[in-house]
Amino acid sequence: MKVYDITSTIVEGMTVYKNKPEKQPKLTTVTNGYVTESRIDMDVHCGTHVDSPLHMVIDGDTFETISLEDLVGPCKVLDFSEVEDRVTKEDLEAFDIQKGDFVLLKTKNSYEEEFNFDFIFLAHDGAEYLSELGVSGVGIDSLGIERSQEGHPTHKTLFSNKVIIIEGLRLKEVDQGNYFMVAAPLKLVGTDAAPARVLLMDGISIDEE
Ligand SMILES: [Zn+2]
Repeated sequence: MKVYDITSTIVEGMTVYKNKPEKQPKLTTVTNGYVTESRIDMDVHCGTHVDSPLHMVIDGDTFETISLEDLVGPCKVLDFSEVEDRVTKEDLEAFDIQKGDFVLLKTKNSYEEEFNFDFIFLAHDGAEYLSELGVSGVGIDSLGIERSQEGHPTHKTLFSNKVIIIEGLRLKEVDQGNYFMVAAPLKLVGTDAAPARVLLMDGISIDEE
């Protein structure tokens, strides 16, 4: 069984949204010579993370409402690395996406290490299409599933249809195909997101319900 770690490495100087210095994680290590303890101070949207509706919806659901059952299971990696600017409904229609699927969008973003202000994102009509199909979740290899769209229609469409959003994936090493995903966010309560370790496995036989 091959395991792919599709998580961003958390380190000071990592790629953060719009290169904002305040979004950098801070690691402080204290040692007295034999006991060493480190402390981390970071944004919950730092690196690879799962968003909760509160992020974009006033009084929206907080992180603990996202069920682990929805973050562990089969997923489909779809290759959009030829797509420019944004992934649209038309781009998505080229694939066999079914109700209940968890889809991960692999784009040119996975091949870039620096923050690109013109990163590829999921267009509003793409979010509407995935919501109509009834996918359970969508992951993307950018730090935002939309690029400051007025009113945040992509986030809002997905949240209002209970589609889980994972951002900050790294998919360069992963080919298009079916995998078993384990997305394990920190067990936070009351928050608008949680950092997550996300693993893909192939060679696992999956019992369809
Ligand atoms: Zn986020």
